[in-house]
Amino acid sequence: MTIKEQVTHCPYPELAPFFEGHAIKFSTGLNGNRVGSDGTVYIGDGTFHSKSMLAHEMAHFVEIDQRRCGMYGWGLRVPEKFVFDRFCAVPQTTQMAERETRVIAFQTNLLEKLGLFTEEGLVTTIRAVEGFSPDWWLIPAKSDKGRLQWLRRQVNKYRKVNTFELFEAEWWRRSEVLKARMKRKLRAPESLAV
Ligand SMILES: [Zn+2]
Repeated sequence: MTIKEQVTHCPYPELAPFFEGHAIKFSTGLNGNRVGSDGTVYIGDGTFHSKSMLAHEMAHFVEIDQRRCGMYGWGLRVPEKFVFDRFCAVPQTTQMAERETRVIAFQTNLLEKLGLFTEEGLVTTIRAVEGFSPDWWLIPAKSDKGRLQWLRRQVNKYRKVNTFELFEAEWWRRSEVLKARMKRKLRAPESLAV
């Protein structure tokens, strides 16, 4: 199934206005993001159709540097090392975990502003995102409980900076950036400019 066939109206009324008539489209059940050949960015609510996971991807769009906001996987890479017959993700720092906590800070402020925040949703997101993150073991704590506490502290710290107002302003500004890039692609389809 292609991305276009999966695109539906965002079923969450509070979040739907963010997807109307813009260069970012909602795609049901999609994990992470995809980018269409015309530069449209598609994000979804994940396998389990969760508002928190949708808000999480929305927050990635705003948190990543502008250059990468129209790239597949937000242009994120984990350092890789060749082990036996394959490349393995080998993080050296907690850089990925730090980024995720900045994203979760935006996500939490967005959900709270729209009356959608639940403590359960937050814990589920932190576990989903960090439980599988390869730098989980580099977080400075002795136990899983300690690592979760460290993540919570980071999220609380970044919530003061990554406010709903900043999220909203950046969302619309970047939507315009994407639209301008799409127009440039239409004029010069051979261009690979992102
Ligand atoms: Zn994430």
